[in-house]
Amino acid sequence: MNIVLLGAPGAGKGTHSEMLVRDFGLKHISTGDLLRAELKKASPVGLEAKSYMDKGSLVPDAVVMKLLVGAIAGIKHGNGFLLDGFPRNESQAGMLEEELASRNMNIDRVLYLNVSKDVVIKRLTGRRICKSCGAVYHVFNMPPKREGVCDKCGGDLYQRPDDTEETVLRRLEVYRKETEGLINYYKTRKILAEVNADLSRDNTYGLILQKLGKK
Ligand code: ADP
Ligand code: ZN
Repeated sequence: MNIVLLGAPGAGKGTHSEMLVRDFGLKHISTGDLLRAELKKASPVGLEAKSYMDKGSLVPDAVVMKLLVGAIAGIKHGNGFLLDGFPRNESQAGMLEEELASRNMNIDRVLYLNVSKDVVIKRLTGRRICKSCGAVYHVFNMPPKREGVCDKCGGDLYQRPDDTEETVLRRLEVYRKETEGLINYYKTRKILAEVNADLSRDNTYGLILQKLGKK
């Protein structure tokens, strides 16, 4: 089963990816995570991406595509993959289709996490992430047992620099302009499944399992 997670920043793509990977052994491919890893290494790709990410703009397609193709090439045919944060515009969706076709692969389901704007702003500005394992917390909705420390691995929690209110608003604007059109793109291909992502993590996950026919 190959899945794409589609939704605004803060829709819960990262959180639900984690749960789907845990339950179905999918390979998680997050272009945001891949870009942040390049940033950390201060590689040429990372340095190029940084200015776009800090502003909340999309990184140029060619840069992201290179990382994505690398990740897809690394997939061993097994349980399938989960794409999180890619594609983000129609041009990326087209390139993805071609890349997969050339490897005799395809997308089975696009899960659209539909979230409202005020929920997103609250979620993202309160989001904290583990530096070591990437687990996601929230200062009010899902606080760790000890402030600033990951329950799972003891790592330090940090706030993503693009989770400030100003940059969140910009990311939402970019989503509306560039990414929202993909909802129709995948509707036309009859692989879109929409779930309400304003609910609690577990309730939304229940809906996801239903849409995947796993419940
Ligand atoms: P979110 O979906 O919550 O905004 P991500 O971690 O997916 O968070 O992305 C963070 C940033 O990384 C984006 O604002 C953008 O600058 C960059 N990025 C991630 N994926 C892509 C992509 N497919 N195309 C272009 N830029 C991307
Ligand atoms: Zn951790």
